[in-house]
Amino acid sequence: QVCFIGRSNVGKSSLIRALFSLAPEVEVRVSKTPGHTKKMNFFKVGKYFTLVDMPGYGYHAPQDFVEMVEAYLQERRNLKRTFLLVDGVVGLQKTDNIAVEMLEEFGIPYVMVLTKIDRASRGVLLKNVLEIQEFVKENTQGCFPQLFLVSSVEFSGVHLLRCFVAHVTGNLPTVEAS
Ligand code: GDP
Repeated sequence: QVCFIGRSNVGKSSLIRALFSLAPEVEVRVSKTPGHTKKMNFFKVGKYFTLVDMPGYGYHAPQDFVEMVEAYLQERRNLKRTFLLVDGVVGLQKTDNIAVEMLEEFGIPYVMVLTKIDRASRGVLLKNVLEIQEFVKENTQGCFPQLFLVSSVEFSGVHLLRCFVAHVTGNLPTVEAS
């Protein structure tokens, strides 16, 4: 399993839909109103892996968000990696600490993904990237140092992230260099 987590409206459903755009058999709903994902959704990709979509936290978070997510993270079976989504326009927010603290506490390996990069100016994007890199270096143990930058609208970074998911779930065959 891999799990996707982030604030409501961070672009999580759009990203999951973009990741699965080559797998039309996996049906992903995208909300018109923020905070649509109130429950955990499991997307099974054949026999290869399952992507777990967590409810969004923050302003629209369901009351039982922490309990639900904590219970899952503690019970996790075969969770290979967690993807923590951060909005590329607004950067890391105080509420993201809810997720960071939980992942750090349970010693779960995770990766940060900066979303909606098509909407951020280069200056804003650079500021947010540098802030996150500094934060990861100073405050985290379990976070992968490489940040992934994506846009679900322009599909930038989506293929690389798809390959990374395939890699961490053991589905990326290694090719011998010729
Ligand atoms: P969720 O609540 O985290 O599942 O967020 P959604 O995927 O529903 O997206 C929230 C809003 O951001 C929607 O209006 C999306 O159209 C918009 N959005 C999501 N991803 C992107 C992106 O990569 N670029 C832009 N420009 N907008 C995005």
